[in-house]
Amino acid sequence: RSITVELGERSYPIHIGSGLLRDIGRHCVKAGFPLRSPLLIVSDSEVAPRYLPMVEAALRGEGYVVVSHVIPAGEASKSLAVYEEVITTAIQAGLDRSSAVLALGGGVVGDLAGFVAASYMRGIGFIQIPTTILAHDSSVGGKVAVNHPLAKNMIGAFYQPSLVLYDLDTLSTLPPRQISSGLAEVVKHGLILDRDFAYWCLEHASELLSLNTEALGYALERGCAIKARVVSNDEREHGQRAFLNLGHTIGHAIEAVGGYGVFLHGEAIAIGMAGSALLAAKLGRERVIYEDTIAMLSALSLPVRLPAEYSVDELMEAMMHDKKFKEGKMTFIVPDSIGAVSIVNDVQQSAVREVLAQLKKEGS
Ligand code: NAD
Ligand code: ZN
Repeated sequence: RSITVELGERSYPIHIGSGLLRDIGRHCVKAGFPLRSPLLIVSDSEVAPRYLPMVEAALRGEGYVVVSHVIPAGEASKSLAVYEEVITTAIQAGLDRSSAVLALGGGVVGDLAGFVAASYMRGIGFIQIPTTILAHDSSVGGKVAVNHPLAKNMIGAFYQPSLVLYDLDTLSTLPPRQISSGLAEVVKHGLILDRDFAYWCLEHASELLSLNTEALGYALERGCAIKARVVSNDEREHGQRAFLNLGHTIGHAIEAVGGYGVFLHGEAIAIGMAGSALLAAKLGRERVIYEDTIAMLSALSLPVRLPAEYSVDELMEAMMHDKKFKEGKMTFIVPDSIGAVSIVNDVQQSAVREVLAQLKKEGS
């Protein structure tokens, strides 16, 4: 399976399938990276022991000089300190303007390696080799970043890869919670723009959870294609790209209040999407949106309730710090039906408080 992200001269392909890691060398040649320029693979301590040797071998087999930099697994590695270490490796290895950085891992590796690629010598080649389901989202769209201690993703760039190589075989070693978390972003793509796909996810939830190759390949292709279409229409988030934030205003607040890692990203936005559906009901949309959203998320083993210990005040406070929040009114992506959303700019704070309280109440 193969999709193209249409961005004029910067268009690039996403290949999805089994056994693709072995072909990475050929893909690099095809993408125009010369053998004389060293390649840098960035990976993490969970992914590298499993898949790095295969990727290195495939590239060396093609005749490339390869250096690898393995970062500790986890969000903490998306930092300026780790960024600087990777840049040091790149300089020491003699990467030049024709070199590429390859991100072998999940969203953390992709965001960090992408920012290295965007900034090293003002920008060199970048190849995404996602190994999580969530990375179907982060590897498409060109947002790359590291975190600042005061704010997530605060230092970054828009930087498109030359190629995304998505080998489904790597997903077999993902822990179950990571699988569900990634599927939250998959079903989100259906909820915002593709009604049939959202219901397809509901019907095929158990196949997706058990990583059935056929179902997963289809779901990731559809998910990537929807994201790719949104990004092609609106690369720099002036309009439609904001739809992708469905569930994220509440989700980010949950991550910030609970501490990163208590809920995984997809789990937090699942609760956020349940909240958006409640808000939709409050704003007069049909109740079936809420019921079906809950059914979809639950089928994917995702949480849809806020644990009692989360304080509404603290969550509201965290949302005030969200960069999508302006001038006393809150902006939310609200479902109009399953498969269609709109941007609502004047949501009352009191309505949001009620939603949060309800998300807790229905949990007990
Ligand atoms: P991650 O990269 O931390 O991966 C999750 C965990 O799974 C890590 O411990 C990792 O080591 C492990 N892992 C990865 N692949 C594995 C495999 N195949 N087998 C076993 N273990 C594996 O996190 P993620 O969920 O992939 O991504 C989250 C990050 O993505 C966040 O930093 C978020 O900000 C970012 N993100 C970016 C965008 C974007 O548009 N750039 C979009 C969404 C999320
Ligand atoms: Zn997200």
